[in-house]
Amino acid sequence: MAIDTTQELIKKIQSRAYSRLVITTHHKPDGDAMGSSLGLMGVLKAYCEEVQVIAPTDYADSYHWIPGNDSVWVYEGREAECDSYLASCDAVFCLDFNRLSRINQLGEVVGQLNCDKIMIDHHLDPEFFYTYAFWDTRASSTCELISDFAKKLDGYDMNVDTATCLYTGMMTDTGHFQYANTTPHTLKTAAELLAKGVDHVAIRERIFDAFSPDRSRLFGYCLHEKMELLAGGEVALIYLSAEELLRFNVQTGDTEGLVNFGLNIKGVRMSALIIDRTERVKMSFRSKGDIAVNEYSAQWFSGGGHKNAAGGQSEDSLENTVALFKRTVKEFQQTWK
Ligand code: 5GP
Ligand code: MN
Repeated sequence: MAIDTTQELIKKIQSRAYSRLVITTHHKPDGDAMGSSLGLMGVLKAYCEEVQVIAPTDYADSYHWIPGNDSVWVYEGREAECDSYLASCDAVFCLDFNRLSRINQLGEVVGQLNCDKIMIDHHLDPEFFYTYAFWDTRASSTCELISDFAKKLDGYDMNVDTATCLYTGMMTDTGHFQYANTTPHTLKTAAELLAKGVDHVAIRERIFDAFSPDRSRLFGYCLHEKMELLAGGEVALIYLSAEELLRFNVQTGDTEGLVNFGLNIKGVRMSALIIDRTERVKMSFRSKGDIAVNEYSAQWFSGGGHKNAAGGQSEDSLENTVALFKRTVKEFQQTWK
Protein backbone atom coordinates (compact mmCIF):
# COMPACT_ATOMS: atom_id res chain seq x y z
CA MET A 1 0.00 0.00 0.00
CA ALA A 2 1.38 3.36 -0.98
CA ILE A 3 0.49 7.05 -1.34
CA ASP A 4 2.62 9.58 -3.17
CA THR A 5 1.22 13.08 -3.42
CA THR A 6 4.57 14.86 -3.45
CA GLN A 7 4.68 16.26 -7.00
CA GLU A 8 3.64 19.77 -5.91
CA LEU A 9 5.81 19.52 -2.80
CA ILE A 10 8.89 18.77 -4.90
CA LYS A 11 8.16 21.86 -7.02
CA LYS A 12 7.86 23.99 -3.88
CA ILE A 13 11.16 22.68 -2.52
CA GLN A 14 12.98 23.17 -5.81
CA SER A 15 11.63 26.68 -6.28
CA ARG A 16 12.80 27.47 -2.75
CA ALA A 17 9.30 28.34 -1.61
CA TYR A 18 10.10 27.34 1.97
CA SER A 19 12.49 29.31 4.16
CA ARG A 20 11.95 27.64 7.52
CA LEU A 21 11.26 23.93 7.91
CA VAL A 22 10.80 21.60 10.84
CA ILE A 23 11.38 17.85 10.79
CA THR A 24 9.98 15.72 13.56
CA THR A 25 9.78 12.01 14.31
CA HIS A 26 8.24 9.60 16.78
CA HIS A 27 8.42 9.25 20.57
CA LYS A 28 11.75 7.74 21.75
CA PRO A 29 13.32 7.91 18.28
CA ASP A 30 15.18 4.83 17.02
CA GLY A 31 17.86 4.53 14.32
CA ASP A 32 15.40 4.94 11.46
CA ALA A 33 13.71 7.91 13.12
CA MET A 34 16.95 9.82 13.76
CA GLY A 35 18.65 8.64 10.55
CA SER A 36 15.73 9.74 8.37
CA SER A 37 15.29 13.06 10.20
CA LEU A 38 18.95 14.02 9.99
CA GLY A 39 19.23 12.61 6.46
CA LEU A 40 16.27 14.69 5.29
CA MET A 41 17.76 17.71 7.05
CA GLY A 42 20.89 17.20 4.93
CA VAL A 43 18.79 17.02 1.75
CA LEU A 44 16.59 20.02 2.53
CA LYS A 45 19.48 22.25 3.55
CA ALA A 46 20.39 22.41 -0.12
CA TYR A 47 17.06 24.19 -0.75
CA CYS A 48 16.11 25.98 2.44
CA GLU A 49 17.90 28.34 4.85
CA GLU A 50 16.60 27.00 8.13
CA VAL A 51 15.88 23.33 8.78
CA GLN A 52 15.31 22.30 12.40
CA VAL A 53 14.95 18.73 13.65
CA ILE A 54 12.75 18.48 16.77
CA ALA A 55 12.67 15.07 18.50
CA PRO A 56 9.64 14.71 20.79
CA THR A 57 11.71 12.97 23.50
CA ASP A 58 15.28 11.94 24.19
CA TYR A 59 16.86 8.96 22.45
CA ALA A 60 19.70 6.46 22.94
CA ASP A 61 23.28 7.76 23.21
CA SER A 62 24.23 5.29 20.49
CA TYR A 63 22.54 7.60 17.94
CA HIS A 64 24.20 10.80 19.13
CA TRP A 65 27.10 10.46 16.69
CA ILE A 66 24.82 10.64 13.62
CA PRO A 67 25.90 13.60 11.43
CA GLY A 68 23.89 16.72 12.34
CA ASN A 69 22.86 15.40 15.77
CA ASP A 70 24.30 18.44 17.60
CA SER A 71 21.64 20.67 16.06
CA VAL A 72 18.66 18.56 17.22
CA TRP A 73 16.20 20.05 19.72
CA VAL A 74 14.44 17.71 22.14
CA TYR A 75 10.87 18.94 22.69
CA GLU A 76 10.57 17.74 26.30
CA GLY A 77 12.06 20.51 28.43
CA ARG A 78 12.23 23.00 25.56
CA GLU A 79 8.52 23.30 24.76
CA ALA A 80 8.13 27.10 24.57
CA GLU A 81 11.07 27.59 22.22
CA CYS A 82 9.93 24.72 19.98
CA ASP A 83 6.32 25.96 19.94
CA SER A 84 7.31 29.44 18.84
CA TYR A 85 9.65 28.06 16.17
CA LEU A 86 6.88 25.80 14.91
CA ALA A 87 4.41 28.70 14.83
CA SER A 88 6.60 30.51 12.30
CA CYS A 89 7.66 27.61 10.06
CA ASP A 90 6.45 26.99 6.49
CA ALA A 91 6.16 23.22 6.72
CA VAL A 92 6.57 20.31 9.12
CA PHE A 93 7.89 16.96 7.92
CA CYS A 94 6.63 14.05 10.03
CA LEU A 95 8.90 11.04 9.65
CA ASP A 96 8.59 7.38 10.63
CA PHE A 97 5.15 7.72 12.24
CA ASN A 98 1.66 8.29 10.89
CA ARG A 99 -0.54 9.29 13.83
CA LEU A 100 -0.04 12.54 15.71
CA SER A 101 -0.64 10.73 19.03
CA ARG A 102 2.77 9.03 18.49
CA ILE A 103 4.52 12.35 19.26
CA ASN A 104 2.67 13.12 22.47
CA GLN A 105 2.02 16.79 23.31
CA LEU A 106 3.97 17.85 20.22
CA GLY A 107 1.26 16.14 18.15
CA GLU A 108 -1.37 18.56 19.45
CA VAL A 109 0.86 21.51 18.55
CA VAL A 110 1.55 20.17 15.04
CA GLY A 111 -2.14 19.32 14.57
CA GLN A 112 -3.12 22.95 15.13
CA LEU A 113 -0.56 24.50 12.75
CA ASN A 114 -1.79 25.92 9.46
CA CYS A 115 1.41 25.25 7.53
CA ASP A 116 2.06 22.35 5.11
CA LYS A 117 2.42 18.98 6.81
CA ILE A 118 4.26 16.18 5.10
CA MET A 119 4.08 12.56 6.23
CA ILE A 120 6.91 10.27 5.11
CA ASP A 121 6.40 6.85 6.63
CA HIS A 122 6.23 3.07 6.19
CA HIS A 123 3.82 1.97 8.95
CA LEU A 124 0.29 0.65 8.38
CA ASP A 125 -2.94 2.62 8.87
CA PRO A 126 -2.01 6.29 8.57
CA GLU A 127 -4.28 8.95 9.98
CA PHE A 128 -5.20 11.79 7.59
CA PHE A 129 -3.43 14.78 9.11
CA TYR A 130 -1.14 15.71 6.21
CA THR A 131 -1.04 18.05 3.22
CA TYR A 132 1.34 15.79 1.30
CA ALA A 133 2.25 12.15 1.85
CA PHE A 134 5.03 9.86 0.74
CA TRP A 135 3.96 6.61 2.33
CA ASP A 136 4.77 3.05 1.39
CA THR A 137 4.37 0.03 3.65
CA ARG A 138 6.66 -1.96 1.35
CA ALA A 139 9.61 0.30 2.18
CA SER A 140 12.06 -1.26 4.62
CA SER A 141 12.48 2.00 6.46
CA THR A 142 11.73 5.69 6.35
CA CYS A 143 15.39 6.15 5.41
CA GLU A 144 14.77 4.15 2.22
CA LEU A 145 11.86 6.50 1.45
CA ILE A 146 14.02 9.59 2.07
CA SER A 147 16.55 8.24 -0.39
CA ASP A 148 13.76 7.77 -2.97
CA PHE A 149 12.43 11.23 -2.15
CA ALA A 150 15.85 12.82 -2.72
CA LYS A 151 15.98 11.24 -6.18
CA LYS A 152 12.91 13.24 -7.17
CA LEU A 153 14.90 16.47 -6.74
CA ASP A 154 16.47 17.33 -10.10
CA GLY A 155 20.25 17.31 -9.97
CA TYR A 156 20.49 16.72 -6.22
CA ASP A 157 23.82 15.15 -5.33
CA MET A 158 23.91 13.53 -1.88
CA ASN A 159 27.00 13.98 0.30
CA VAL A 160 28.55 11.29 2.48
CA ASP A 161 27.11 12.64 5.75
CA THR A 162 23.55 12.49 4.47
CA ALA A 163 24.17 9.03 3.00
CA THR A 164 25.52 7.95 6.41
CA CYS A 165 22.32 9.08 8.15
CA LEU A 166 20.16 7.14 5.70
CA TYR A 167 22.27 3.99 5.71
CA THR A 168 22.05 3.95 9.51
CA GLY A 169 18.26 3.75 9.59
CA MET A 170 18.11 1.23 6.79
CA MET A 171 20.52 -0.99 8.68
CA THR A 172 18.72 -0.73 12.03
CA ASP A 173 15.15 -1.18 10.67
CA THR A 174 16.13 -4.24 8.60
CA GLY A 175 18.22 -5.88 11.37
CA HIS A 176 21.36 -5.65 9.21
CA PHE A 177 19.36 -6.39 6.04
CA GLN A 178 18.05 -9.67 7.41
CA TYR A 179 14.34 -9.10 8.11
CA ALA A 180 11.55 -9.78 5.64
CA ASN A 181 11.27 -6.05 4.86
CA THR A 182 14.60 -6.26 2.98
CA THR A 183 13.79 -6.11 -0.76
CA PRO A 184 15.90 -5.84 -3.93
CA HIS A 185 15.17 -2.10 -3.84
CA THR A 186 16.41 -1.92 -0.23
CA LEU A 187 19.74 -3.50 -1.13
CA LYS A 188 20.08 -1.39 -4.27
CA THR A 189 19.45 1.76 -2.24
CA ALA A 190 21.94 0.66 0.44
CA ALA A 191 24.52 -0.01 -2.28
CA GLU A 192 24.01 3.49 -3.72
CA LEU A 193 24.54 4.96 -0.25
CA LEU A 194 27.72 2.91 0.26
CA ALA A 195 28.96 4.17 -3.11
CA LYS A 196 28.80 7.71 -1.66
CA GLY A 197 31.57 6.67 0.73
CA VAL A 198 29.61 5.52 3.80
CA ASP A 199 31.76 3.64 6.34
CA HIS A 200 29.32 0.85 7.22
CA VAL A 201 31.70 -0.89 9.64
CA ALA A 202 32.06 2.30 11.69
CA ILE A 203 28.26 2.72 11.80
CA ARG A 204 27.81 -0.85 12.97
CA GLU A 205 30.40 -0.43 15.70
CA ARG A 206 28.97 2.89 16.94
CA ILE A 207 25.50 1.39 17.32
CA PHE A 208 25.96 -2.28 18.09
CA ASP A 209 29.33 -2.41 19.82
CA ALA A 210 28.40 0.41 22.14
CA PHE A 211 26.79 -1.45 25.05
CA SER A 212 27.51 -0.22 28.56
CA PRO A 213 28.58 -3.00 30.97
CA ASP A 214 25.19 -2.57 32.72
CA ARG A 215 23.35 -3.12 29.46
CA SER A 216 25.29 -6.29 28.66
CA ARG A 217 24.58 -7.62 32.14
CA LEU A 218 20.89 -6.76 31.80
CA PHE A 219 20.69 -8.84 28.60
CA GLY A 220 22.45 -11.75 30.31
CA TYR A 221 20.14 -11.53 33.31
CA CYS A 222 17.02 -11.46 31.12
CA LEU A 223 18.06 -14.48 29.06
CA HIS A 224 19.29 -16.46 32.03
CA GLU A 225 16.74 -15.66 34.68
CA LYS A 226 13.74 -13.95 33.17
CA MET A 227 12.84 -15.57 29.87
CA GLU A 228 9.80 -17.84 29.94
CA LEU A 229 8.65 -20.14 27.18
CA LEU A 230 4.89 -20.36 26.81
CA ALA A 231 2.34 -21.94 24.50
CA GLY A 232 4.26 -25.19 24.07
CA GLY A 233 7.51 -23.38 23.34
CA GLU A 234 6.17 -21.17 20.55
CA VAL A 235 6.11 -17.96 22.58
CA ALA A 236 9.00 -16.38 24.50
CA LEU A 237 8.33 -13.77 27.16
CA ILE A 238 10.58 -11.47 29.17
CA TYR A 239 9.13 -8.92 31.57
CA LEU A 240 10.92 -6.36 33.70
CA SER A 241 9.80 -4.42 36.76
CA ALA A 242 10.66 -0.81 37.51
CA GLU A 243 12.93 -2.13 40.27
CA GLU A 244 14.91 -4.27 37.82
CA LEU A 245 15.32 -1.27 35.50
CA LEU A 246 16.90 0.62 38.40
CA ARG A 247 19.08 -2.33 39.38
CA PHE A 248 20.67 -2.39 35.92
CA ASN A 249 20.69 1.40 35.60
CA VAL A 250 18.63 1.12 32.41
CA GLN A 251 18.95 4.18 30.15
CA THR A 252 16.87 5.18 27.12
CA GLY A 253 17.48 2.65 24.35
CA ASP A 254 19.06 0.01 26.59
CA THR A 255 16.27 -2.53 26.09
CA GLU A 256 16.23 -2.08 22.29
CA GLY A 257 16.92 -5.41 20.59
CA LEU A 258 16.24 -7.49 23.69
CA VAL A 259 12.91 -8.79 22.37
CA ASN A 260 14.63 -10.32 19.32
CA PHE A 261 16.53 -12.85 21.42
CA GLY A 262 13.40 -14.91 22.05
CA LEU A 263 13.16 -15.62 18.33
CA ASN A 264 16.67 -17.13 18.32
CA ILE A 265 15.25 -20.21 20.01
CA LYS A 266 14.25 -22.99 17.67
CA GLY A 267 10.48 -23.34 17.58
CA VAL A 268 9.73 -19.88 18.97
CA ARG A 269 7.43 -17.98 16.60
CA MET A 270 6.53 -14.97 18.73
CA SER A 271 8.53 -13.06 21.30
CA ALA A 272 7.32 -10.47 23.78
CA LEU A 273 9.03 -7.98 26.06
CA ILE A 274 6.93 -6.25 28.72
CA ILE A 275 8.45 -3.41 30.72
CA ASP A 276 7.11 -1.39 33.62
CA ARG A 277 8.02 2.15 32.51
CA THR A 278 6.25 3.56 35.63
CA GLU A 279 3.99 6.01 33.75
CA ARG A 280 2.73 3.01 31.74
CA VAL A 281 3.58 -0.57 30.91
CA LYS A 282 5.19 -0.79 27.46
CA MET A 283 5.42 -3.88 25.33
CA SER A 284 7.28 -5.01 22.23
CA PHE A 285 6.31 -7.94 20.05
CA ARG A 286 8.22 -9.75 17.32
CA SER A 287 7.12 -12.71 15.21
CA LYS A 288 7.97 -14.92 12.29
CA GLY A 289 6.07 -15.60 9.07
CA ASP A 290 2.38 -14.79 8.91
CA ILE A 291 1.85 -14.13 12.60
CA ALA A 292 0.52 -10.55 12.67
CA VAL A 293 1.60 -9.20 16.05
CA ASN A 294 0.46 -5.69 15.07
CA GLU A 295 -3.14 -6.97 14.92
CA TYR A 296 -2.75 -8.82 18.21
CA SER A 297 -1.30 -5.69 19.84
CA ALA A 298 -4.08 -3.48 18.46
CA GLN A 299 -6.69 -5.88 19.85
CA TRP A 300 -5.32 -6.20 23.37
CA PHE A 301 -2.74 -3.50 24.05
CA SER A 302 -3.79 -0.32 22.16
CA GLY A 303 -0.83 -0.84 19.88
CA GLY A 304 0.23 -1.44 16.32
CA GLY A 305 3.28 -1.42 14.07
CA HIS A 306 4.27 -3.94 11.41
CA LYS A 307 3.21 -7.56 10.94
CA ASN A 308 6.42 -8.97 12.46
CA ALA A 309 7.40 -6.06 14.75
CA ALA A 310 4.87 -4.22 16.84
CA GLY A 311 4.42 -2.49 20.15
CA GLY A 312 1.69 -1.60 22.58
CA GLN A 313 0.97 -0.32 26.06
CA SER A 314 -1.19 -0.77 29.09
CA GLU A 315 -2.33 1.52 31.90
CA ASP A 316 -2.75 -1.52 34.18
CA SER A 317 -0.09 -2.91 36.56
CA LEU A 318 2.81 -5.01 35.25
CA GLU A 319 1.39 -8.06 36.99
CA ASN A 320 -2.06 -7.68 35.39
CA THR A 321 -0.58 -6.88 31.99
CA VAL A 322 1.59 -10.01 32.08
CA ALA A 323 -1.46 -12.05 33.12
CA LEU A 324 -3.52 -10.60 30.27
CA PHE A 325 -0.71 -11.39 27.84
CA LYS A 326 -0.42 -14.98 29.03
CA ARG A 327 -4.16 -15.49 28.71
CA THR A 328 -4.67 -13.86 25.32
CA VAL A 329 -1.56 -15.18 23.61
CA LYS A 330 -2.87 -18.74 23.92
CA GLU A 331 -6.04 -17.68 22.11
CA PHE A 332 -3.93 -15.86 19.52
CA GLN A 333 -1.85 -18.99 18.99
CA GLN A 334 -5.01 -20.83 17.88
CA THR A 335 -5.12 -18.54 14.82
CA TRP A 336 -1.62 -19.58 13.64
CA LYS A 337 -1.30 -22.09 10.87
P1 5GP B 1 9.40 -1.41 19.29
O1 5GP B 1 9.01 -2.75 19.81
O2 5GP B 1 10.73 -1.43 18.63
O3 5GP B 1 9.21 -0.31 20.26
O4 5GP B 1 8.35 -1.10 18.12
C1 5GP B 1 8.17 -1.96 17.04
C2 5GP B 1 7.24 -1.35 16.04
O5 5GP B 1 5.95 -1.16 16.63
C3 5GP B 1 7.66 0.01 15.55
O6 5GP B 1 7.42 0.04 14.17
C4 5GP B 1 6.78 0.99 16.27
O7 5GP B 1 6.48 2.06 15.46
C5 5GP B 1 5.55 0.18 16.58
N1 5GP B 1 5.02 0.54 17.90
C6 5GP B 1 5.66 0.44 19.08
N2 5GP B 1 4.87 0.84 20.10
C7 5GP B 1 3.69 1.19 19.55
C8 5GP B 1 2.45 1.68 20.08
O8 5GP B 1 2.29 1.86 21.28
N3 5GP B 1 1.48 1.94 19.17
C9 5GP B 1 1.64 1.71 17.84
N4 5GP B 1 0.61 1.99 17.01
N5 5GP B 1 2.78 1.25 17.31
C10 5GP B 1 3.79 1.00 18.14
MN1 MN C 1 11.03 2.90 10.69
